[in-house]
Amino acid sequence: MTATTDFDAVVIGAGNAGLTAAATLQRAGLRTLLVERHNIPGGCATSFRRGRFEFETALHQLSGVGMEGQQYTLRSLFDRLGVADSLEFVQEHDLYRAVVPGQYDVTLPADWSGAVAALEDAFPGNRARVERFFALVRDVTFWYIAALRRTPAADIDPVLFRQALRPLKDVLDEHFDDPGLKSVLGTYWPYIGQPPSRLAFQEMALMLYGYIEFKPWHIRGGSQAMSSALLDSFVAAGGQVRFNTAVEAILTERGRAVGVRLDDGQEVSARDVVSNASLPVTYAMLGDDAVPTAVRDDLATRRVGVSAFALHMGLDATPADLGFTTSTTFVGVDLDDDRTYAVWRSLEPARGICVSSYDVAPIGFAPSGASHVSLLTLQYGDVWEKVPPAEYARTKFAYAETLLDLAERAMPGIRDAIEEVDVATPLTVARYLGHPGGAIYGYDQDRAESWLFRDSERETHVPGLHLAGAWVGPGGFQPTLEAGHRVARRLLRTKAA
Ligand SMILES: Cc1cc2nc3c(=O)[nH]c(=O)nc-3n(C[C@H](O)[C@H](O)[C@H](O)COP(=O)(O)OP(=O)(O)OC[C@H]3O[C@@H](n4cnc5c(N)ncnc54)[C@H](O)[C@@H]3O)c2cc1C
Repeated sequence: MTATTDFDAVVIGAGNAGLTAAATLQRAGLRTLLVERHNIPGGCATSFRRGRFEFETALHQLSGVGMEGQQYTLRSLFDRLGVADSLEFVQEHDLYRAVVPGQYDVTLPADWSGAVAALEDAFPGNRARVERFFALVRDVTFWYIAALRRTPAADIDPVLFRQALRPLKDVLDEHFDDPGLKSVLGTYWPYIGQPPSRLAFQEMALMLYGYIEFKPWHIRGGSQAMSSALLDSFVAAGGQVRFNTAVEAILTERGRAVGVRLDDGQEVSARDVVSNASLPVTYAMLGDDAVPTAVRDDLATRRVGVSAFALHMGLDATPADLGFTTSTTFVGVDLDDDRTYAVWRSLEPARGICVSSYDVAPIGFAPSGASHVSLLTLQYGDVWEKVPPAEYARTKFAYAETLLDLAERAMPGIRDAIEEVDVATPLTVARYLGHPGGAIYGYDQDRAESWLFRDSERETHVPGLHLAGAWVGPGGFQPTLEAGHRVARRLLRTKAA
């Protein structure tokens, strides 16, 4: 006879993966408790108010939404979780505008032929090469997805084995001579957090394919609208949620997870525990004795990934006033991506930023005649951990000026239009999420972290403990939303067996 438990499942953390896991479990009939240390759902996927503006915290371009009726998209996931009707997606028609002053200023539409035409326009004589490159992007993505779906290696086209793990830089060098063209095609590398010299080609291929084929999107009401809708679906199905509550320990018996202890001392028993907290925090909550040696050895080899430095701004000007032609603009000082990556480990002026306007295709966060814009660069958290507390505010605002300097080069006058501004450093991100270094994609997403070499999501080594989110798979919105659902379904299958 099995002992009675308070819940069938406890989910730690209401980030993307925690929310989709909790909603999936509860809607399948498992009595589920969702515990979140913050006072709102979403983790990174939240928004907040300043003055007459609401600010999107993290979502720059949602991948995987797809057009209505297109298969294998987030739309079908949202449908299964009962939230599709409450979400309104706002399409971006361009991938991005990429600007390196004095070198190039190119806007790539989010369609294959439009992107080829724009690149031919900016870098004449390269049409055939770009078409060949895009054909490789499609091929590698096709077989990458087949491999992720566990197609036997013998049935996979050798193009994947030849190209997938090559550095993006090598593949670009093989296709093109023009440094500007290579730079424009590699523009998305900060979305993964590794420069082209270190980034596996398969990751850029998958991202380019995803955004071109399924388009980049925003959500009306911001990512908070999505997080709140997922929470509502969970609660409507009978799920229970505790906000302002951290899990401080995962309880085990004979090596199996059997529940959690909350920070008010309450113990909650459950047959299964799903953690959306970071891997180091999750295993620390188990206590040394319960962490298997295999896990400890594994954790010792891993490197905490990059965090973010962001300016969330309310501007007293419209996007047109400021010369925005598209929602997403990347501005860099030069073509040296390795150097840009290197300064993420320092307080040297930002060398590359992503500028997002949420009002070219409005998401509803700015009043009429005004606009909401964010400036983002990436940085490792340890840089900020070394700043003495007395120096923190001065250092933060001085560094923020370096992002504004860069933005001014593509959108002159943006600084003067600022009405409200909120600056977040990696320490801010760490404080809100509880993740080491404020890492936004979990561990460094280099080739050593590829799913080919690690499968942390499947290998907790602790029965009853399930892991979901950026620390056990790819970071970013689409991957984590899908991960929570996938992990929950795997858990449900074990119950049904
Ligand atoms: C500024 C910024 C910009 C970004 N830009 C993009 C972008 O444009 N595109 C993109 O795809 N991705 C972007 N990302 C990354 C993306 O948002 C994340 O990779 C993704 O949202 C992580 O989701 P997750 O499910 O792993 O959970 P997280 O969002 O990391 O949330 C984890 C949750 O667990 C909670 N938690 C932790 N410990 C405990 C505990 N002990 N008890 C209870 N609760 C706990 C935390 O409070 C948090 O709510 C960005 C992130 C940031 C911060």
